[in-house]
Amino acid sequence: MSTPEVVTRFAPSPTGPLHIGSARTALFNWLYARRHGGLFLLRIEDTDKQRSTETSMQAIHHGMEWLGLKYDGAPVSQASNAKRHKEVALKMLSEGHAYKCFSTPDEISEFREQAKSEKKSSLFLSPWRNTLEEDHPIAPFSIRLKAPREGKTVIKDRVQGDVIIDNSQIDDMILLRSDGSPVYMLAVVVDDHDMGVTHIIRGDDHLNNAARQMQIYNAMGWKLPIYAHIPLIHGPDGKKMSKRHGATGVEEYQALGYSASGMRNYLTRLGWSHGNSEFFNDEDARSWFDLEHIGRSPSRFDFKKLANISSQHIANTEDTDLLLELEGYLKVCNYPALSEPQKITFLLGAYCVKNNAKTLKELYEKSAFILNKRPFLLDEKAKENISSLSVAVLQELTELLQGVNWDRASLETVAEVLTQSHDIKLGELAAPLRVALSGRAVSPSIFDMMLVLGRDETVARLKEHG
Ligand code: GLU
Repeated sequence: MSTPEVVTRFAPSPTGPLHIGSARTALFNWLYARRHGGLFLLRIEDTDKQRSTETSMQAIHHGMEWLGLKYDGAPVSQASNAKRHKEVALKMLSEGHAYKCFSTPDEISEFREQAKSEKKSSLFLSPWRNTLEEDHPIAPFSIRLKAPREGKTVIKDRVQGDVIIDNSQIDDMILLRSDGSPVYMLAVVVDDHDMGVTHIIRGDDHLNNAARQMQIYNAMGWKLPIYAHIPLIHGPDGKKMSKRHGATGVEEYQALGYSASGMRNYLTRLGWSHGNSEFFNDEDARSWFDLEHIGRSPSRFDFKKLANISSQHIANTEDTDLLLELEGYLKVCNYPALSEPQKITFLLGAYCVKNNAKTLKELYEKSAFILNKRPFLLDEKAKENISSLSVAVLQELTELLQGVNWDRASLETVAEVLTQSHDIKLGELAAPLRVALSGRAVSPSIFDMMLVLGRDETVARLKEHG
């Protein structure tokens, strides 16, 4: 198999729920790989044993599955590559790109305190950088990278432009701690290299890390990846997106009932643009997505816009797919699963409930006349719509419906005859009829409901109120 030109990865740390910002990072990586016929890999950065949890791991998989972000191959566990990370550090040591540092943590913090009090740079420059092996004590040591002191490091970032850092500002970072364990920064580079990652698309909170990670690539003589550091997502008030603004975890959005394709569309558009296009499908996104049109300033999360896009996706989803989405939503909310007859009726009636539903929750509510079983429990508002006059009218309607052809035009004629003979408006007939058919004061049109339910069920529901 030839090596693909584009290999991206999503590298979450399993230390909490899958944040909406991380999900967008995953989405951008997925889109970029799919656009270029490349690979999209998943690496779980689980080296922090104390903070990594199984629940969080599941949240990552669950969230990606919901958003349809299928990764290629098996997920990589960073922790399980520790031996290889160590091997690379030792190689750098043997080739003179790294050195043993015998400074103790106490010495280093003492140096830092003093530098602080003297208002000098607290960048630690190890005294062991150029010492000879024969001068080394028999004592614990860490392995530090021998970073260049002169010159500049330029991150050629595809979003941020050239980011230039003076090498005198970069210290000799530790690669292996004195207990022999590799540091996170080394692990990231080794894994990215070994996984063949060509493009690193991630949050711009990692921009500073890139400068240091590049030193490792250079020391090893490895080809640098292309970097694209994307600005973080802010809340509507321009501050970093947090719980204060609303839901931050992907699972929460699923439970709120946003459609997955709507969420993908909204998140793609959040920080990236394609002209004025707001509403688009996956195919469009996959053929348009590029790094050039990712904005440089943080994007603001707009809940109204999300709802609007989600609603358009629900309206445009094929009925059979919508049924699957609805079933997924019910499962997440621990609502009872749909029976086979309910599914069949939903497919018959989807056309009259899928418009103007912002979420699957709203879709579910609009589908009450399909999904709820008789007898309905009426709420106060619904009860108000059933008066003694309307009971009489409903009884008459029940009679008329027995012999009529079951099509829209005939049903409309029946309604017209009835309203004329009682000298009432259609709304006055529709209000109690709506309650009888759906148990609600708000529902799809009465004609749609009758057509979807069929004669027997319509008549049976009317009789409950006769
Ligand atoms: N594990 C890091 C995070 O969750 C990402 C590291 C990277 O993308 O290089 O923020």
